[in-house]
Amino acid sequence: MSEVESRNFIEQIIDKDLAEGVYDTVHTRFPPEPNGYLHIGHAKSILLNYGLAQEYGGKFNMRFDDTNPTKEKEEFVESIKEDIAWLGADWEDRLFFASNYFDDMYEAAVKLIKKGKAYVSDLSAEEIREYRGTLTEAGKEDPYAKRSIEESLRLFEDMKEGRFEDGEKVLRARIDMASPNINMRDPVIYRVAHMHHHNTGDKWCIYPMYDFAHPIEDAIEGITHSICTLEFEDHRPLYDWVVRELEYPHPPKQIEFAKLYLTNVVTGKRYIKKLVEEGIVDGWDDPRLVSIAALRRRGFTPESIKKFVELCGVSKANSSVDYAMLEYCIREDLKLKCPRMMAVLNPVKLIIDNYPEDQVELLSAPNNLENEALGSRQIPFGKELYIEREDFMEEPPKKYFRLFPGNEVRLMNAYFVKCTGCVKDENGKVTEVHCTYDAASRGGNSPDGRKVKGTIHWVPVKEAIKAEVRLYENIIDEEKGVYNEDGSLNLNPNSLTVLKECYLEPSFADAKAYDRFQFVRNGFFCVDANAFGVSAGSPDDNLVFNRIVSLKSSFVLPKKED
Ligand code: ATP
Ligand code: MG
Repeated sequence: MSEVESRNFIEQIIDKDLAEGVYDTVHTRFPPEPNGYLHIGHAKSILLNYGLAQEYGGKFNMRFDDTNPTKEKEEFVESIKEDIAWLGADWEDRLFFASNYFDDMYEAAVKLIKKGKAYVSDLSAEEIREYRGTLTEAGKEDPYAKRSIEESLRLFEDMKEGRFEDGEKVLRARIDMASPNINMRDPVIYRVAHMHHHNTGDKWCIYPMYDFAHPIEDAIEGITHSICTLEFEDHRPLYDWVVRELEYPHPPKQIEFAKLYLTNVVTGKRYIKKLVEEGIVDGWDDPRLVSIAALRRRGFTPESIKKFVELCGVSKANSSVDYAMLEYCIREDLKLKCPRMMAVLNPVKLIIDNYPEDQVELLSAPNNLENEALGSRQIPFGKELYIEREDFMEEPPKKYFRLFPGNEVRLMNAYFVKCTGCVKDENGKVTEVHCTYDAASRGGNSPDGRKVKGTIHWVPVKEAIKAEVRLYENIIDEEKGVYNEDGSLNLNPNSLTVLKECYLEPSFADAKAYDRFQFVRNGFFCVDANAFGVSAGSPDDNLVFNRIVSLKSSFVLPKKED
């Protein structure tokens, strides 16, 4: 895959700005509202902003957009910082809180009033909506728009001093009630809200509106390119109006790009929050979610997410990306990095009748056939092994090349074994598979040129480590419909399968939280960090693995357009 790509539209804008001397540096920021955990869409925005700063030798700021005290929480501030650091975006010493600029914003509002560009209005929210007009009809003049500058200054001061109830007065920008853009029809820029703020406490009872606050935050920090998503396109004229009227010497520029959506999963903070609050998933980091915390717990790497957002590109058109593309990226990233080990997820015993009773021999196995640097390991082999239940069939269909009475297969890295039969319980369930081995086939090599069609993996019974394994399917199956008739999400009932009795080869003994492995034939897995160490002292019952991704996919990398 070629790494050389044509410059995206944002790079083109920046190139032009630098060439024309509009800016002489690039300074970006990521401005999350601390009202939830970040998700894969935010990862795109973070990596885009950070990546541009790096590419142009500029700076990247981290800024909490915490101007709305209702929904914001300290817990989210911490999780967001952790997630961004994990992704590798470094804000150095530039961690900011928009709420630290409340004084500047207040001063900015006063400046607008003094210029005759803002006024205090007594209209209720309801009346403001009525006066605003529609897409086809101009708005009506606010009866309070004629208020003198002095009176507005005094009333705005009174708003700040807490002399009004919530909703009693607002500050509006004076722009154009007849503008075809509704956002320009004298937007509210300050409101009264007697609310406690997580950072400023009870100091303020007036709070700025987003469209007024955001350009000020950008301008104060010296941001050059303020990148946001498409829903703000119609707000850009207001953004420009604010920075122009406040006469900032180096006005920042807003650029919009399309949000990232993924098929078959839930993106959107609001929807993820609902699943968490309704207890449908096990917290914000449930591995079925695509929050950054969930992707990390599931076993995704920062590199895989970076690769993914690069492949997605930046665009002005909304679209959904196939979840399979994210899976492709993690497979590509892990295939050379992870050791390939044996783990049996759905076990049945295999007994080698002609193998000496108490003999144990150590067999060598390469850790990764495509990457010799990962070396090899020794695995104990004995008379009793675990194999996958599906690797034996008493009455096999055509083209089944694994164990069935009379058939010979290779035990991976070990020996040829020939199936002699099985033992069943009173319900007809197979409890043991029996076979004989050919001692001359040590290492899994044919002693005389005879061929076997199947190779299966195994784990020695005596030395096996028991573990729980969790398999995931997408939380939504878009082919079956995203929503139910009542508007609720149509969730996949099979999104989580818990396998309580899985056996791993003893080389897993040192596995730690977040360690990743390829389980032969079964996919890539990661040690669950939440379960790890829960009952310290008994490693056997707290080792839990999440399947990151299975091995195969029908996904084909889309061709890049020129
Ligand atoms: P959501 O839509 O999930 O509720 P949000 O836009 O309300 O998210 P913010 O905290 O306001 O979340 O977003 C911080 C930044 O991340 C903004 O610049 C926003 O445009 C960007 N962002 C949010 N969602 C996506 C997405 N799906 N793809 C790309 N960027 C996104
Ligand atoms: Mg938002």
